[in-house]
Amino acid sequence: MVPGLGDCPKCGITDWKPPRHVRTRGVTSTAIADLNIITCKKCGFTELYELSEQELAPIKKKALMIFIFAGIVPILLGIAVPIWLIWG
Ligand SMILES: [Zn+2]
Repeated sequence: MVPGLGDCPKCGITDWKPPRHVRTRGVTSTAIADLNIITCKKCGFTELYELSEQELAPIKKKALMIFIFAGIVPILLGIAVPIWLIWG
């Protein structure tokens, strides 16, 4: 069971699947919501929770790491490969 969650409003049990983090985007790219989807294991009832700042902190850190790998590593390769081709 997930801490802080009560009984399922549909079937009354407390057997929830672990929260799954999703990011949804609205009409504009600035309207982004980070949500936890929590689903009842028995009946499939699903609730959405907006992530707190505390929960978002490690996700933001991870996003920064992805940004570094996706943005900076290709640039470094773009510099290193021509040098290697010229000098190698
Ligand atoms: Zn249920």
